[in-house]
Amino acid sequence: MSLGADMIAILEGKERNLFKHHPWVFSGAMDASTLPASAGVEKVVSYDGRFIAWGWYDKDSHIPLRLLSWKEDDMPDSAWWERSVRESVLRRKSFFSDMSSSTNVFRIIHGEADLLPGLVADVYGRIVRIIVSARVAWDMREVVVRAIEGLLHPQMIILNTDSAFCAIEKLHEIVEYYQEGVRFTPAEKLAEMRIREDGIYYGLVPGTGQKSGFYCDQRENRRRLEQYVKDAVVFDGCCYTGGFTLHALRGGCRKVDAFDSSADAVHRLLSNVHLNVDLGVLPSSSLERVTANKADVFETLRSIPRNAYDVMILDPPKLAQTIKSLESAKKAYKDLNRLAMEKIRNGGILMTCSCSGSLKREDFRTVLAWSAKDAGAEVQILETLGQGMDHPVRMSFPESEYLKAYILRVIK
Ligand code: SAH
Repeated sequence: MSLGADMIAILEGKERNLFKHHPWVFSGAMDASTLPASAGVEKVVSYDGRFIAWGWYDKDSHIPLRLLSWKEDDMPDSAWWERSVRESVLRRKSFFSDMSSSTNVFRIIHGEADLLPGLVADVYGRIVRIIVSARVAWDMREVVVRAIEGLLHPQMIILNTDSAFCAIEKLHEIVEYYQEGVRFTPAEKLAEMRIREDGIYYGLVPGTGQKSGFYCDQRENRRRLEQYVKDAVVFDGCCYTGGFTLHALRGGCRKVDAFDSSADAVHRLLSNVHLNVDLGVLPSSSLERVTANKADVFETLRSIPRNAYDVMILDPPKLAQTIKSLESAKKAYKDLNRLAMEKIRNGGILMTCSCSGSLKREDFRTVLAWSAKDAGAEVQILETLGQGMDHPVRMSFPESEYLKAYILRVIK
């Protein structure tokens, strides 16, 4: 069968996962003679001519073909993007109804898991932050901004490219600001704003800080931690702006020592403790119960005495950036957790997380078993946790399960 020039053919044996709706196609899976010269929407068929999906081909992307729609009569044009954005936002209806009370920060678009490759969007009160990490989403950004504007009428939309992907996606590092859907240049630095998660307040300047300024994927896990900290001495190893620390204080811990390699994060944590004390969310004794230190978590774990902590939290950054760095990352996760298991008191609670998408849940668990063995400890899993429900895991795209967390009891 002859294929038209506007169809990309998948090589025999490489089509199976794509029929199961896996969205990524690398160059080794495509018939090179069917590849178009310029970027755009293409029909994708199997080697024997069966329709698989509509995809976006762009040879300059590190994932040259991204499948978008598996329905032949539903081609991903601008209207498709607009509709997909709207559907993704509307799936978070329950979060919007909570906006006026305890939580006003959550994710409304979670990339491929919401069928929108390279696109993430978070709500911060009245501001929306969009992060673009793929060329296809960059191309469609005006449509995305328009769709969000039309639905939510935010005070401002801030859109930026993800610096971690700019080099491999051949994108520029760019920040754009939109008001009423129109791009503008802010006259002055944006003012600090307050966001709320689960009744706790955080100060942030929109458009700054790591990730999108706040890690809302840990919302449920922070709440779980609170159940274990009454009267405990707590160690928060990679505290950032204090997500877990603030919950430990609210949960009635005796003391919490927080550490982060970023001085900025440590300052922000302390001002967040003050903010919550001032607002009456935390008791004023919280100020004497917390220390915040700029320090490397590995060095800190080596230097602290044994049996000083009842509860320890390890929420390191993505140690495996790519599949290539997976083996060295596993070793780093193993050492980190081994050190904590050695230092924690007998019967202590270890909350440990990995946000590396390339490290599978089973493999993280295996790594933790190695740590336990080397620390000479018996370890019980009390809770198996993941990412917040506004960061869904798409069944056909296992890579979207990136955050794994366990609450463990360490018995020596
Ligand atoms: N637990 C935080 C999020 C942690 S994100 C929350 O609930 O919001 C990971 C943090 O690890 C970042 O703040 C980063 O600055 C910090 N970090 C990175 N490398 C580190 C290191 N070697 N030692 C300590 N902190 C580190």
